[in-house]
Amino acid sequence: MVKRSFWLAAALACAAWSGPSEGRPAAASVDPVSPPSAAEFQAWLGDFKAKAAARGISAETLERAFAGAAYIPRVIELDRRQPEFTMTFWQYFDKVISDKRIARGRELLKTHAGLLAKVEAKYGVPPRFLVAFWGLESNFGDHTGSFPLIDSLATLAFDPRRSRFFAEQLLAALEIIDRGDIPPDVKASWAGAMGNTQFIPSTYRAYAVDFDGDGRRDLWRSLPDVFASSAHFLSQSGWRRDETWGREVRLPKGFDFALSGLDKKLKLKEWQAKGVRRADGRDLPVADLDAALVLPAGADGPAFLVYGNYNTILVWNRSILYALAVGHLADRLVDKGPLRAKKPSNDKPLSRADMREIQRRLADKGYDAGGQDGIAGAQTRRAIKAYQSKEGLAQDGHPDSRLLERLRDDGN
Ligand code: CA
Repeated sequence: MVKRSFWLAAALACAAWSGPSEGRPAAASVDPVSPPSAAEFQAWLGDFKAKAAARGISAETLERAFAGAAYIPRVIELDRRQPEFTMTFWQYFDKVISDKRIARGRELLKTHAGLLAKVEAKYGVPPRFLVAFWGLESNFGDHTGSFPLIDSLATLAFDPRRSRFFAEQLLAALEIIDRGDIPPDVKASWAGAMGNTQFIPSTYRAYAVDFDGDGRRDLWRSLPDVFASSAHFLSQSGWRRDETWGREVRLPKGFDFALSGLDKKLKLKEWQAKGVRRADGRDLPVADLDAALVLPAGADGPAFLVYGNYNTILVWNRSILYALAVGHLADRLVDKGPLRAKKPSNDKPLSRADMREIQRRLADKGYDAGGQDGIAGAQTRRAIKAYQSKEGLAQDGHPDSRLLERLRDDGN
């Protein structure tokens, strides 16, 4: 739920804000961090409480929330992890779109059909999407986090790295407690993502809804509140009632891959005229919609045309893979088929070191790859596209081992 560049490596974006393990790379290295002394932490806490009181948090809430407050070294370890590999599209989809999850989602869609219909009538978000978000964020409520919310946020706010952001989240959490929505001892993800929807506190504060009318906005135990809060957040983020998210498509031979990317929008009829078809070969729908072409595994992988609601999913989580997974899982819950594209036999993730090498070699050739952080962000992908254009390669902007080989062969 943090705004970041669209193309930020999916695994990193998901690691911070999605469910407990979604998209999180297995391998990780950790910088050693020495925890502060108890006195240092308590002194910081004293200052913070004064600021929170000045912002209108009641003395009683501050007392209850910070009774026995402790710094949690493990939270900082998790925050400092540097994933060694970023998952590929196929690795990510295999993990998050399991048959088991689809089957359970279909059951839950039926079980809660009445409630979901009421929520859709009010907010305009169809049930299949609400259940898909629920599945991806917390595996339908199985994983809502096991870290004490206040201590985790206080630890991250004390840490200098992203202190301002987390201090604001801690204040938002205190405001939610202060208005009686939740008790101060709730458990959340290590980064403070809360409840079935894994909302960060500022999102919870702004968008959570008391749909069951008990006076509290409870995203742990009230499914009416959970579904309505998701739908409210999406509707406020631009969700369009009568549109879907996008679809898998088939590209014609000789397609110009320079047309790919979220920043290049064409009308559906223009895509049709360029030879793009539904994945089963039929014509694209006749509708006056702008669509962008997303190639999450490069020119040889699956292709998706995405509409405005895809961008709304990205407001929830800035990962392009997460947004495709929400859309695809939603479709699977209503019996639309699996992807037509087939997983290649040589599907291998790039290591962070390989990604850094790509960035270095592009920079050496005069392309602005946006630094050498080992993450394929928007600037890196633009640089790859520029290089591909110059070299007469398919301009998919996709970093993979073939691109790295090519750059090495070009020398420098
Ligand atoms: Ca409620």
